[in-house]
Amino acid sequence: MRILIVEDEPKMASYLHKGLTEASYTVDIADNGKDGLFLALHENFDLIVLDVMLPELGGFEVLKRLRAQKQTPVLLLTARDTVDDKVEGLELGADDYLSKPFAYAEFLARIRSLLRRAPRGTRDVLTIADLEVDLIRRRVRRGETRIDLTAQEFALLQLLAERQGEVLTRTFITSQIWDMNFDSDTNVVDVAVKRVRAKIDNSFDKKLLHTVRGMGYVLEDRS
Ligand code: CA
Repeated sequence: MRILIVEDEPKMASYLHKGLTEASYTVDIADNGKDGLFLALHENFDLIVLDVMLPELGGFEVLKRLRAQKQTPVLLLTARDTVDDKVEGLELGADDYLSKPFAYAEFLARIRSLLRRAPRGTRDVLTIADLEVDLIRRRVRRGETRIDLTAQEFALLQLLAERQGEVLTRTFITSQIWDMNFDSDTNVVDVAVKRVRAKIDNSFDKKLLHTVRGMGYVLEDRS
């Protein structure tokens, strides 16, 4: 998951950068509206955090020009907590809005919520190192080796691959794959992960499906 932060205050930018990097997101920073718009239009981000008060080109103008071409989710940040600002931002196509100062926990919660809502894009094949997950043909390969998965194993791998680099909790995985919330039996996730891991990792040197103790699982290339 790749996030662009457009923010001219260095302290705020580095604070958000640090936090999001620790949460396993890949983060780029632009310190003015012009550069931010350029990056937003020419690169592919899963989410853009956009400050309203920016030099060169204001946040609202950036958003307006972005929306003429792209629907990348945008979280607006502003120091001005007025209803007019909020309405203008949302009308221009912002997906959510946060007034400064805000608690980091709330910021992260908004980010996660937006990323969950975001369309998965038009990628048909997800790749992590030499692992390929073909979403259309429902096929999985590692290099030249074809890997056969059951429907449920495929669903689990797809979820992990779509959120590669992001630690997924057992509860989240359960809610996404089994479409219900088990209260206690998250063991079902461990069993499913073990089966997928046996197929995609066990006979390969490079391991991709990692356990994050006390948190959950993540699919990523750690080399
Ligand atoms: Ca600013």
